[in-house]
Amino acid sequence: MKNLIAGNWKMNGSMEAALDLAKNIVSGIQENPDLLKNNDFLVCPPYLHLAPVQTELTSAISLGSQDCSPFDKGAYTGDVSAAMLKDMNCDYVILGHSERRQYYRESDMLIKQKATMALEQGLIAIICVGETEQQREQGIEQDVVRTQLIGSIPEGASADTIVIAYEPVWAIGTGKVATVEDIRVMHAFIRNELKDLAKTSNKLRILYGGSVKPSNAAEIFAAENVNGALIGGASLQAHDFLGIADAS
Ligand code: PEP
Repeated sequence: MKNLIAGNWKMNGSMEAALDLAKNIVSGIQENPDLLKNNDFLVCPPYLHLAPVQTELTSAISLGSQDCSPFDKGAYTGDVSAAMLKDMNCDYVILGHSERRQYYRESDMLIKQKATMALEQGLIAIICVGETEQQREQGIEQDVVRTQLIGSIPEGASADTIVIAYEPVWAIGTGKVATVEDIRVMHAFIRNELKDLAKTSNKLRILYGGSVKPSNAAEIFAAENVNGALIGGASLQAHDFLGIADAS
């Protein structure tokens, strides 16, 4: 399976910066079409930048959102529904990112509700899981991830409808990267857990996320059961984003 190289732009940049970034990614891939041999590409800009960014993308790059509402429509001020995202030509939605779990107290149950909405609209849900530093020190990282997987994966999920992103919280935006052995062990654990939670689990993509850069991407991608990366900081520079793809 091809690696999924997914950029999470978070709440960064102006409209102009978002358009420039999209243009630079498109031209970088056009200049080096070999990047498409091993990779699928996805960018997830802020809501307001989705439509303009989409006008810059080619079919080689999918569009995704960073969140969606757990409700289908109606009086939910500030929410954006999965149907609206689909209407905006999104293919993916990131759900349960640790920043949302931490700052908005999102629970597994809420994430599952959002994922259910996403699947109903034909969006692929990227469900994020991962332990805190304290939980890893306590040796309970697998219990934490198992609970998140069981609680957040919607009914009827399969390799065509969900992607899992393993993102140890302590590695996000910190420059600290999990060791390749830690990543290999956790991805094998997730693959095994998925047998009971999703159809076609052996084909389901498991991304790693947490301070991935061009310089560390090759060894991370070489680990078994790593099927791509969810990239924050390094996705804001086309050169770094594509450098990570080049490493795969
Ligand atoms: C992320 O936000 O999903 C992420 C992995 O961020 P960073 O690459 O900056 O650690």
